[in-house]
Amino acid sequence: MPRIPACPVSLTGECLSSWIERTACFYGCDFDHWIGQFSVELMRRGETTTDLDLSKTLWTVVGECTGVSPARLPSVLSDTSQLLSNRARLAFCEHCWDDDVRSGGQPYIRQHWLKWTTVHCANHREFLSAKYPSLDRYAFFVSWQDIWASKPNWRDAFELRKRAPYSGTGWYRPATGAAHIHRRKQLFRLLERISDASDLPANEALTRALESFPSWRHSDHRSTQTPRMFESMINNAFTEVPGLLENRIELLRQTALLLGCFESRRSSASRDVRSRRK
Ligand SMILES: [Zn+2]
Repeated sequence: MPRIPACPVSLTGECLSSWIERTACFYGCDFDHWIGQFSVELMRRGETTTDLDLSKTLWTVVGECTGVSPARLPSVLSDTSQLLSNRARLAFCEHCWDDDVRSGGQPYIRQHWLKWTTVHCANHREFLSAKYPSLDRYAFFVSWQDIWASKPNWRDAFELRKRAPYSGTGWYRPATGAAHIHRRKQLFRLLERISDASDLPANEALTRALESFPSWRHSDHRSTQTPRMFESMINNAFTEVPGLLENRIELLRQTALLLGCFESRRSSASRDVRSRRK
């Protein structure tokens, strides 16, 4: 097993895969090549397919190779209820990464970006962006180095060289639209409720929206702006939920709309009750 003498410090809420790739960048290495370092050991321990954010075996192996204590390693995900499939974990917040660099750190992937119901950043109140899916159907892991190399401030934080194919527009950035600031705030407030499993009206709205929103299953979803972004590229098995960011945004917008209707119906019903009592 390789011994890795030094590693970057893991950051708040960071994914294990993100930390592994930042370590690879530190050694000027390619992500796939770096993962390859661990593969023999993983196979020896009986693991033939690995989810980099879920594998306790990988977590143990990486800890042993680096000598980083368990408390300082990024944790593996424990809540997998809304987890996107491997190839669909493509979302990130551009503003969070700018803040990471401004505070002297490196851009990194947050664990909560891996949930399919997370489509916006609660800190910046903006929709997330998404890396384009890999054109290689056998690429099982999402690598971020090409995106990190695409903006001067991120590139400098990793000491990466500029790469030609990505020049700042190499990812999908949802249009913010012309909605009034108040309406956008309201939309994001409703979206934040959808991730909360204990919020019953939000969950009912989500179930209904999923039932009445079958169009995400088609790779030529009409709201697809970028020809390279197809559901079939990341969602081979066509799971119950969409994986592509633009389809997720579309579905969750409809959920928020339904939830808004529930809320206004509920408040007008309680107004009626109050006025009848008077
Ligand atoms: Zn953000």
